[in-house]
Amino acid sequence: MATTQAASEKITSVTAIPAFIKDSPKKLLIGGKWVSAKSGKTFESINPATEAVICQVAEGDKADVDEAVKAARKAYETGKWSAMGPHERGRLLLKIADLIEKYADELALLESLDNGKPVVQAKNIDVRGAAAQFRYFAGWPTKIYGETNPSDPSIFSYTLREPMGVCGLIVPWNFPLLMAVQKTAPALACGNTMILKPAEQTPLTALRFGEILLEAGVPEGVVNVITGFGPGAGSSIAEHPDIDKVSFTGSTEVGKLILQASAGNLKRVSLELGGKSPNIVLPDADMDAAVNTAVNGVFFNSGQVCVAGTRIFVQRDQYEGFVERLTQASRKMTIGDPLSPDTRLGPLVSKEQFDRVNNYLEIGKKEGARVTIGGEKVSGKGYFVKPTVFADVDNKMKIAREEIFGPVAAAIPFKDENDAILQGNDTTYGLAAAVWTRDVSRAHRVARALKAGTVWVNNYGSSDVAMPFGGYKQSGFGREGGRHVIDLFTQIKSVYVKL
Ligand code: NAP
Ligand code: MG
Repeated sequence: MATTQAASEKITSVTAIPAFIKDSPKKLLIGGKWVSAKSGKTFESINPATEAVICQVAEGDKADVDEAVKAARKAYETGKWSAMGPHERGRLLLKIADLIEKYADELALLESLDNGKPVVQAKNIDVRGAAAQFRYFAGWPTKIYGETNPSDPSIFSYTLREPMGVCGLIVPWNFPLLMAVQKTAPALACGNTMILKPAEQTPLTALRFGEILLEAGVPEGVVNVITGFGPGAGSSIAEHPDIDKVSFTGSTEVGKLILQASAGNLKRVSLELGGKSPNIVLPDADMDAAVNTAVNGVFFNSGQVCVAGTRIFVQRDQYEGFVERLTQASRKMTIGDPLSPDTRLGPLVSKEQFDRVNNYLEIGKKEGARVTIGGEKVSGKGYFVKPTVFADVDNKMKIAREEIFGPVAAAIPFKDENDAILQGNDTTYGLAAAVWTRDVSRAHRVARALKAGTVWVNNYGSSDVAMPFGGYKQSGFGREGGRHVIDLFTQIKSVYVKL
């Protein structure tokens, strides 16, 4: 989840290399202490814009996850967090928000170096978004309460809403800090303790965030950070018999593995997975707004966005003109150095992702789609992929069915409103969708018909921390954001008292 709002504030100090990365190798956060992996192993974090090594990072695995779970369990059972008064807990969450803002430039720079996203966007969207999450969830500890039930006068029955316990939070690399915070903030608000595992490609801001939590005064063991790989650190969390809940954001493929692994101790699971979202432009739409927003909707963050509007549907008789305008607008997506304030698109996150997306460019051409811009491999240093528009796409093609996670748009023609809805829904995913129309009845009708967890009308990518976010179908289950995420990080106990 991320907004596509325009960046508004410049970064002040993009040249200074944070001392944080000079202190390499980075360690794991377990029980309030920074420790090396038990195996002594480390791995490299790479700057995807230059392919240079940024620093070494501890490679945590099962043995380290075991230690982290012990620390989280101890912190949970001693009640130093769950039993802390809700006002005090809320105050601490506000302090974390303040510190994220205090270190905003450094966090944005770390995120930009590690992930490749433009530093201005990292600050205005990722880091600001992270602080906003903590501010919002700081209000929740005082508002999580149970109910009384008046039905039997001889019994006083009521409910308690309690934390889940020890949570595993596994997050991806596209919005590394924001995704970590999107889970950590509500999990903390509800009184849980946790083990956070960032993606191997982007471990740095999660580690800096760990330092911030300690600085804010979060008690030791409440949040543990284990860097490492999916098979190893990630799978050990998913399988762990003493973890009560796993919250995962990432690919649908790994989401299924997590669900299987969770069966061992029936841990609670919530999954935010992939998407192949339709962006439907009906013929009565404001075409200027539709074109410009569609470009941002699919190319923002170099297309590495779970809600990216990758399938753009346009009515057949407007199709050619719209594709032409889409192509023109795509040219304005300046691609380049993420540290430059003018850059709109940085590189993709990794060599693996670069190869994957370039492979889809070849697949699209082989399937008979027509490239109107981009479409060929970029040579030189850095994992850059040009914004690419495929026209004449059939919704049955691979490039219209599979999540590419790169700056690749598929423009698909439709016959009428009904056909647009049918094609839009003809996907295994259901994360988001958009519809463009000036007809208010039509807007609501189509919003109801689209099978997606989020529907945008005449905009793309708006988000609000107070609104639920999650998927239909194979885009996952559970809703993060707003009061709904409180359900994911709490459980309900019924108490009966004989009067
Ligand atoms: P991924 O494998 O699903 O990674 C997400 C997180 O899960 C990472 O922290 C990863 O660790 C961890 N993980 C991997 N295998 C695991 C396992 N067996 N058990 C537990 N945790 C595990 O995603 P990816 O490989 O980075 O990207 C592949 C594709 O996933 C992308 O091309 C895109 O289509 C999709 N994706 C979707 C989202 C989204 O927000 N919906 C985000 C990222 C990627 P490692 O990083 O160490 O592997
Ligand atoms: Mg990296």
